[in-house]
Amino acid sequence: MNKNEMYRMIPKTDSLLKEEEIQKLTDRYGRQAVAGTLQEILKELREKAAELADRGREEEGAEVIAQATGKITACLRERLEQLFRPEMIPVVNGTGIILHTGLGRAPLGEQAGRRGGQIAGTYTNLELDLNTGERGERCSHFERLLCRITGAEAALAVNNNAAAVLLILTALSSGGEAVVSRGELVEIGGKFRIPDVMEQSGTRLREAGTTNRTRLSDYESAINEDTKVLLKVHTSNYRILGFTESVPLEELCTLGRQRGICVVQDLGSGVLVDLSRYGLRGEPTVQASVSAGADVVCFSGDKLLGGPQAGIIVGKKCFLDRMRRHPLARALRIDKFTAAALEQVLLEYLNPDQAVRRIPVLRMLTRPADEVRQEAELLAEEICQKRRAKQGENRREIPVQITVEPCTSRAGGGALPEEEISSFAVCIVPGTISAAKLQRRLRTLPVPVLGRIVRDRFLVDMRTVSDSDREYLAELFSGDELFVPGIFRAPDGMGQETEPEKGSGL
Ligand SMILES: *Cc1c(COP(=O)(O)O)cnc(C)c1O
Repeated sequence: MNKNEMYRMIPKTDSLLKEEEIQKLTDRYGRQAVAGTLQEILKELREKAAELADRGREEEGAEVIAQATGKITACLRERLEQLFRPEMIPVVNGTGIILHTGLGRAPLGEQAGRRGGQIAGTYTNLELDLNTGERGERCSHFERLLCRITGAEAALAVNNNAAAVLLILTALSSGGEAVVSRGELVEIGGKFRIPDVMEQSGTRLREAGTTNRTRLSDYESAINEDTKVLLKVHTSNYRILGFTESVPLEELCTLGRQRGICVVQDLGSGVLVDLSRYGLRGEPTVQASVSAGADVVCFSGDKLLGGPQAGIIVGKKCFLDRMRRHPLARALRIDKFTAAALEQVLLEYLNPDQAVRRIPVLRMLTRPADEVRQEAELLAEEICQKRRAKQGENRREIPVQITVEPCTSRAGGGALPEEEISSFAVCIVPGTISAAKLQRRLRTLPVPVLGRIVRDRFLVDMRTVSDSDREYLAELFSGDELFVPGIFRAPDGMGQETEPEKGSGL
């Protein structure tokens, strides 16, 4: 067989498209996607064949082509299914990290999520004042709530808190200086550094004090005629302990008022309920900052507030108006989905006791350890019962140890860094495969399960697991499929370990 004969064995796209099975795929996925995917597959096949031909192995090439041709429809179907399947999917968070950036930070929960989707899915009065029929303001819908909840005069929201800091500094101190304590020049994960944002805003950074101690006199001596802002940054993700001193916000505000300089606080997390009532210390509330006299306060929407990604700015109207008018505000504005979800979450805060129970982030954070232990015991018991029942049926016995153990949850998202929240986990020790392998299998399920490995045991922290998750986990761990050594092929579309073969998969 020569090269050309070999190439001629490769089917043509046009003739394949006429085949009955492939026409069915065309009806379902459309001609463009099917033809395009077919061309990809055939191109890969041609490349593979060419590689063999170059090495004088036409016979082998012909063999490869013959085999692949028989599997083309199946391969095409699989690729189309994958192409048309959304990649972003719900996952079960068994890590115990409540604000897990990798898992999308704050889950909005059913109600706020639905509300955001509902409003985004239709026309809405986003920027229309229904009373006057005139142009409205997209932030007005939740501004009333933020003012009421925090006691501030005015409020607005932008894309995220990093954007909020950028907008504040650009609008208020561009071309001038901002004073920041050396103990507060923070870096938040993902490249947000106060000095860099400051530079980006066109503000010169004037450092005050030292890493561990900054006094009011340090701020006083840092102030000059170019000073536009005194910036206080909450050290969200670290604490300076030991011989330390920092200036309380009240005192800084007094200084600001005396000198006619705007005092801005970047709070990071932005808690709207006093969490110290639940034993969680170290996150000051937005209300406290406003009543201490801060001119401008900013914080994240999707950290401890438990809402959508946003940067919320509250404070004195004269300063917020300057931000609203700045062209950057237009570039950083939030969309209708966020506005609607934020409004819905803020509505919950009108009743703070209820907010703690109804906003998922707060509910998980304040859940008593004892309640989490009961959940863990319930799940462990459910799994064991189901396993016994199934093993009775088909007499396979894969040794799996299921126990309940104490563990530590974390707030995550750079909030409450010192707080070790005591919790309980269901601990799974597969007897036949390693915990690492189990972890990998769980990650590639259609509904993936994320957990921690501690000493070759897989832990699911129940603090971040919902009731419906628990039912799913009970079913999942009751079967043997996950624990069988070798290639993982789960039944009923439960999923499979997808380590795609090189090339076309043919
Ligand atoms: C998290 C945080 C930010 C960044 O907020 P994003 O909403 O993630 O952009 C800024 N400042 C502080 C102090 C933070 O903790």
